[in-house]
Amino acid sequence: MTKTRKPLQKYRRVVIKIGSALLVDRATGLKKAWLDAMCADIAALRARGVDVLVVSSGAIALGRTVLKLPPGALKLEESQAAAAVGQIALARAWSESLSADAIVAGQVLLTLGDTEERRRYLNARATINQLLKLGAVPIINENDTVATTEIRYGDNDRLAARVATMVGADLLVLLSDIDGLYTAPPHLDPNARFLDVIAEITPEIEAMAGGAASELSRGGMRTKIDAGKIATTAGCAMIIASGKPNHPLAAIEDGARSSWFAPSGSPVTARKTWIAGQLLPAGTLSIDAGAEEALRSGKSLLPAGVREVKGTFSRGDTIAILGASGREIARGLAGYDADEARQIAGKKSAEIAAILGYAGRAAMVHRDDLVMTGKRADEKDGRRDEVHA
Ligand code: GLU
Repeated sequence: MTKTRKPLQKYRRVVIKIGSALLVDRATGLKKAWLDAMCADIAALRARGVDVLVVSSGAIALGRTVLKLPPGALKLEESQAAAAVGQIALARAWSESLSADAIVAGQVLLTLGDTEERRRYLNARATINQLLKLGAVPIINENDTVATTEIRYGDNDRLAARVATMVGADLLVLLSDIDGLYTAPPHLDPNARFLDVIAEITPEIEAMAGGAASELSRGGMRTKIDAGKIATTAGCAMIIASGKPNHPLAAIEDGARSSWFAPSGSPVTARKTWIAGQLLPAGTLSIDAGAEEALRSGKSLLPAGVREVKGTFSRGDTIAILGASGREIARGLAGYDADEARQIAGKKSAEIAAILGYAGRAAMVHRDDLVMTGKRADEKDGRRDEVHA
């Protein structure tokens, strides 16, 4: 894990959040030239082997422009309708602009529960990962047409941070009309100093975030710092940069001013820390010595090695895994509901489809969802693997 800023192409997987004001002109609609330049930057990053995901705002702003709604605050049902009109145009624009660079776009619309409920989180993550595997660029937004005041992210800064941690990104880039973090709002305080590296989000840093938000974007510096907390805690670095110039990613590379927030861990271990820290596992799987050996060498838990399933749990719930000695050796997220797990325990992966009636996942607990919590039976009792933050 590094605390030093590195060039964009050195990251493995990058989530880029784009604010509404960058994409939409309230008088003329979509800023096509800007979008085309942005897509060229994305293509350049991908050509260097970086996975790119986009969280694009602009649905409501574009929709209200198309529908010619008057300026000012919208009622909930108006913004929902505006989003319906705007999102379809926004997705088409991304798809067309990316296709000029021979890139396929895939639209993903998320509601709050898709990242907060583990079961749905796993589903959304699997879909997005599959898109990346197939070489497509996910274009993600909140599903504003069905989001209600109580059940919504409300701003795409935090949504983008949740997406970044969900897919194990190592960099989140927030592009808006703000070029970074200042010690005070620069338009109000002439002594405001720009911060180009933020090693840690301390209470002082939080206090620097004003509440500013324009009519077009709901997020101000407050939501950007919230996003920074989510991302950096999970081991993902974050950059706040101005998206105003054409080719904003190239501009960052060329040294344009931006604020870099250092990650505080690595995505996988931070997530596994969370799994290991679950207080009440919903069930247990007892496994045989062969499966225990496989887990210790970093492999997934296959149904064949499972002897007994206890408890009532759903796919995505945290479960404890008991080794051949009967002691807990690992925790993980269940790949199957408890009753399905019982049916396929001890069976070969190839038999799953015939037993369940559908082709499920090969693993009972995937290694990405698994963390070792206990030492071998021949080691001292009570000792647990160190879990790194
Ligand atoms: N999801 C909103 C939209 O696409 C934008 C939210 C935000 O500005 O952060 O219009």
